[in-house]
Amino acid sequence: MSEHKTLEEITNEDLHISYSAVSCYRNCSLKFLYKYVEGKKPESLSINLILGSSIHTAINMLCCSHKNAQIEPFQAITDTFQTSLTLDINNTEVPVIFSKTISDVNSAISMGNSMLKVFYDNFNFTEEVVAVDLPLSAILYDENKQPTEYKLVGVIDLLIKNNIGELIVVDFKTASKSMSQEAVHQDQQLTSYSYILAANKYIDPKADIDCRFDVLLKTKEPKLQQIKTIRTKEDRKRFAKIASAVLSGISNRVFYPVQSFLCSSCEYSNACKDW
Ligand code: SF4
Repeated sequence: MSEHKTLEEITNEDLHISYSAVSCYRNCSLKFLYKYVEGKKPESLSINLILGSSIHTAINMLCCSHKNAQIEPFQAITDTFQTSLTLDINNTEVPVIFSKTISDVNSAISMGNSMLKVFYDNFNFTEEVVAVDLPLSAILYDENKQPTEYKLVGVIDLLIKNNIGELIVVDFKTASKSMSQEAVHQDQQLTSYSYILAANKYIDPKADIDCRFDVLLKTKEPKLQQIKTIRTKEDRKRFAKIASAVLSGISNRVFYPVQSFLCSSCEYSNACKDW
């Protein structure tokens, strides 16, 4: 891809940007440049990414089966997980980086099966499922409340209703350590989902919405952590300003390395050294 891509080209023809892209830019704009602007092939792939994606596929299957009132047995869930993991590992063109705790394919399968067992055993089959993997988009407004030509897009893992009919946004995560309540309160992913839900009239634009992270921990004995939070109209307004600032940074080609703990799993570390 050309180094002179316009913002329109970077954000695709229909001018959209996802939360993942916003988050990538905020964490390290140089990584954003490699991934979204130059379309550079990753140098490697972390087993944690493959594991997380395969677990997500399996959880998605369980949620869909619950929504359709035909709950899949645990064996079917783990079969889906293993197929997804094996295919992803076999099909990748770059080296897979294993870790201390997940040192090969067998240990990845064993860890994934244990994590899914915890998830399955704790799954609340009484919750009413409204949608699974719900794709939505919404126009982004600038800080002067004027509509921009850009859309925010996102796919919500799970939307459920509580026993008094209120919506709860659920996002699934896999992590090596538990998330703090403060980190969940600050998390912009849930805010971005709240934004697109309000814009699509799932909730009143002025209303708060309940959100929850379901975090499957890759610990020796896997655990499920469920952490609740809420998002308000003010949170959504702030997110729109953040997204606007990110678009402005991209438009002005502001790209530089931000070294952090994320560098250890960065798939562009060689390119970064040559920057
Ligand atoms: S190695 Fe770190 S600083 Fe370099 S591109 Fe990756 S995340 Fe950014």
